[in-house]
Amino acid sequence: MPTYSYACKECGNSFDAVQSFSDEPLTVCPECGGPLRKLFNSVGVVFKGSGFYRTDSRSSKADTTAKSDSTPAPKSETAAKVEKATSS
Ligand SMILES: [Zn+2]
Repeated sequence: MPTYSYACKECGNSFDAVQSFSDEPLTVCPECGGPLRKLFNSVGVVFKGSGFYRTDSRSSKADTTAKSDSTPAPKSETAAKVEKATSS
């Protein structure tokens, strides 16, 4: 489901709405009933796109971080299991 960002022209209320492609776009501010401006989603897409490339270039670092981050969890899980097994 795509997320659309809206901003109210009247009160400046901005929010994200998860809508399907077939849903009617929101036009009325839920806060004040003023006209809504649809913040174009492509801003987020562009951000994500450039982010992909940046993340890609330092993916090795991210991988290392993720690995070193996730490694202790299974270890402690195993330790907990061993503890349980030992105590029971
Ligand atoms: Zn409003």
